[in-house]
Amino acid sequence: MTDTRESDLLASVPDGLFIGGRWRPASGGKTLTVFDPSTGEPIRVIADASPEDGAAAMDAAVEAFPAWAATPARERAEILRRAFDLLQERKEEFALLMTLEMGKPLAEARGEVGYGGEFLRWFSEETSRIQGRYGANPEGTGRMIVSQHPVGPCFLITPWNFPLAMATRKIAPALAAGCTVVVKPAELTPLTTLYFAKLLQDAGVPDGVVNIFTTSTSGAVSEPIIRDPRLRKLSFTGSTAVGQKLLEQAAQGVLRTSMELGGNAPFVVFDDADLDKAVDGAMLAKFRNIGQACTAANRFIVHRAVADEFARRVTERVQGLKIGRGTEEGVAIGPLIDDRAVAKADSLVKDAVSRGAQVRTGGTALDGPGTFYEPTVVTDVAPGSDILREEIFGPVLAIVPFDDEDDAVRIANDTEFGLVSYVFTESLARGQRMIDRLETGMMGLNVGVVSNAAAPFGGWKMSGLGREGGAEGIHEYLQTKYTLTPNPFA
Ligand code: NAD
Repeated sequence: MTDTRESDLLASVPDGLFIGGRWRPASGGKTLTVFDPSTGEPIRVIADASPEDGAAAMDAAVEAFPAWAATPARERAEILRRAFDLLQERKEEFALLMTLEMGKPLAEARGEVGYGGEFLRWFSEETSRIQGRYGANPEGTGRMIVSQHPVGPCFLITPWNFPLAMATRKIAPALAAGCTVVVKPAELTPLTTLYFAKLLQDAGVPDGVVNIFTTSTSGAVSEPIIRDPRLRKLSFTGSTAVGQKLLEQAAQGVLRTSMELGGNAPFVVFDDADLDKAVDGAMLAKFRNIGQACTAANRFIVHRAVADEFARRVTERVQGLKIGRGTEEGVAIGPLIDDRAVAKADSLVKDAVSRGAQVRTGGTALDGPGTFYEPTVVTDVAPGSDILREEIFGPVLAIVPFDDEDDAVRIANDTEFGLVSYVFTESLARGQRMIDRLETGMMGLNVGVVSNAAAPFGGWKMSGLGREGGAEGIHEYLQTKYTLTPNPFA
């Protein structure tokens, strides 16, 4: 703890479980500790929920559902809009809290408050646009009515890397649709979600509409909730391995699911690219969030004619990145989330080097305190290297050369993941071909960040199911009913 502003903020974060509009300790009295990854120091002790607490959260969501579903859309919209306004007022507190528990630079944490807040604004607007259809059937014998209904109580599980935005991206559309929720944030960064619960209360969210539990035993507490027949929807963001396990559990009750899973994004630079744009895009796509984003560029696939120049320019930029605690002025690279993340980045670089890759800069884990890994550029990565198959989730930029467009497409699509791709070319026709040829749910064409609350975020292949944000996002929390009535003139 370095200053009173930080300690005052941390002390104001609730340390209990938020169930039925009330804060309470875990039933067994157990606690878990949250750490600052930039110092390794404990920063807050909070409740560690048991399966009993999970069941209580589920009971509260079930009980609150009928009244919330019947609340007029405009009222739900106004509550979400108030939450958006309050978030703007409390922007600095949320940004600092995320930096303290997750490590991202403060400027990026402010960016996440902006991005995360947009889901509240967007879905407050979408609330009153939930529409149906009415029309004659083709035979003329009846009238067909299509209406939309909230799916019911939902279970939302979020990861540690975007503690606010991953929560608002689920909570806002669920509430907009008229659903109640049980939220389980990641145990590594739960404080932002707990602090957000206070904001939702202040915005007027009724008791039981949002319930939150934190736990060190995610599997044991979550599985009974997923198997509870009263649950109607599971929305998960996290690793593909955990997503697969949850899908198996959800299969029993044929539960509606949304899955935002892992990525292995290709970043393709053609020889007709504007290299200034490509380098700017690469810095964002790779080093934002210290490389710990599902949308992070994982494989830089660069035409052989420009590969050296691209590597030279990104290396120069990477060498200028300041490493340190996210609260310090000018820091661009904070710590990785934990020792495991550092060990993974290190082993991926070592594997690539053992197969002939060159380290242009970085390549070392820094001594503690804190879990830092140097921003790194490796070139001439050989096919088959682990770094091309696995999600790096760290500040390592790996370059693979290619010779022609077919080659680039083949390498880019050579993964079971399909979340996002980035393409840099000044040729319109080539850009259009890439939209058709790359197997990803999202694409940045001459840009390095694509996320926007108004756009459908989600993956193809093993990167997931469903979409968050955009006009599509609210439909994840709605179910359709078709009603037939007789022709009133017959
Ligand atoms: P993770 O899968 O380890 O954990 C995600 C969440 O699931 C956490 O809350 C965790 O506590 C919980 N969890 C873990 N095991 C569980 C179980 N058995 N039952 C119920 N819950 C369980 O992932 P992570 O390390 O927190 O996040 C990183 C991963 O998330 C990366 O693969 C990244 O690509 C992915 N991610 C995807 C998106 C997306 O939108 N596609 C966004 C952010 C992160």
